[in-house]
Amino acid sequence: MEEKRNVTMEKIVNLCKSRGIIFPGSEIYGGMGNTWDYGPIGVEIKNNVKKAWWKRFVQESENSFGVDAAILMNSRVWDASGHTASFSDPKMDCKECKTRHRADNLIEAHSKGTVNPDLMSNEEMEQYIKEHNVACPKCGKSNFTPIRQFNMMFETSRGVTDENQNKIYLRPETAQGEFVNFLNVQRTTRAKVPFGIAQIGKAFRNEITPGNFIFRTIEFEQMEHQWFCKEGTDGEYYNFFKEKAWEFLVDLGIDKDHLRYKDHDKLAHYARAACDIQYLFPIGWSELNGIHNRTNYDLSRHQEYSGKSMEYIDPVNNERYVPYVVEYSIGADRLMLAVLSEAYEEEKLENGDTRVVMHFHPAIAAYKVAVLPLQKNLGEKAKEIYKKLSKDFMCTYDEAGSIGKRYRRQDEIGTPFCITIDFDTLENDTVTVRDRDTMSQIRLSVDELPDFISKAIKF
Ligand code: ATP
Repeated sequence: MEEKRNVTMEKIVNLCKSRGIIFPGSEIYGGMGNTWDYGPIGVEIKNNVKKAWWKRFVQESENSFGVDAAILMNSRVWDASGHTASFSDPKMDCKECKTRHRADNLIEAHSKGTVNPDLMSNEEMEQYIKEHNVACPKCGKSNFTPIRQFNMMFETSRGVTDENQNKIYLRPETAQGEFVNFLNVQRTTRAKVPFGIAQIGKAFRNEITPGNFIFRTIEFEQMEHQWFCKEGTDGEYYNFFKEKAWEFLVDLGIDKDHLRYKDHDKLAHYARAACDIQYLFPIGWSELNGIHNRTNYDLSRHQEYSGKSMEYIDPVNNERYVPYVVEYSIGADRLMLAVLSEAYEEEKLENGDTRVVMHFHPAIAAYKVAVLPLQKNLGEKAKEIYKKLSKDFMCTYDEAGSIGKRYRRQDEIGTPFCITIDFDTLENDTVTVRDRDTMSQIRLSVDELPDFISKAIKF
């Protein structure tokens, strides 16, 4: 299915900047490439996205437990996981304009997706680029250095004296925090396999070609869920999490025509199966999340490198084994971009005007309610209602400008309900409730509001 919406990346970036959703990082110093700061509206939306994910994958998931592991981990973790040896991308430098590129991305773009560089060796990629005269996206020439593998982990050092510094890394994924705590969680929760460990947290990657707004950044948040199970049940759970991940996205308001599964063509040597769910971003179909059947590779490697047993002992038959892992991993920021792209609409109104409206799922919207006095002299009553509703919901208050303008401002940030206080409110304690999507209005008593809003924002 081709792009049918009128959303572009430029429109999303502009809206985010002008409405306090996302700002360029360190902007007053000219920015810091590919870092972004979430503003007052953005931080609420992102928190709500994370809350919805946690609710689905921890709160409502029998036998799944959360952790919040340290970002800085013992460097041996990254030796065991394979990141120090091979968490790298094939980089090439353009000899003409000195820009750096990923060879696989150059081939993918040049072949318009018809050639899969994942199946090629470095030599084959170099040959393809030479034979097809693949051009540098910056200067248009085709004169590249040979490929070198570029490790994407950010290094830093730990130590209180200059002479005594140890190299450590900013974690490039959250998953290892779940693996190293496998037995801690199992013991303290007395969980029986199969069970899950989930985590939301920051990860850092020195990406060769970051960009496309928050799609690929050097610092981002991941939401990961590792399901520990017995060999032989892994295939069934792999399918289960493929479906569960899809369902979560659809329930969050993403049109299923904008989603598709994409199996990996090339599997890591230890993996049994891997697929992505792709989303039709304004930049085209791209990975939104991954589901991987990782066998017992991760726990076995930690067992080998730490010298500590990672075996689970079945309490019924005393069988000992290192569990298999089905991993589900999604970027909170990448999901945020999908949610923003999905919600965006420029709607033509009957009077010929156009309104920009963000159709977020009400659970995701930053403010659930905007309280708007029809006139300034109704402010006292309006503030009283605002104060009351704020105890239960994130609300905003606005008395500046015409009511039409105020509605538009709320539409642009996706507030599902506008509550208007008029002179009847003073008489009978009722208000007008305007629905963001239909723009229809109903009259409710102030006492009915909490129930009405609670029902509407349920995820
Ligand atoms: P890609 O192929 O896009 O580089 P990946 O396959 O390396 O992604 P994983 O390591 O499987 O990604 O990470 C899981 C998820 O984390 C991705 O599906 C994506 O949602 C998110 N993610 C990964 N790298 C980034 C990044 N640099 N910026 C933002 N989100 C990211």
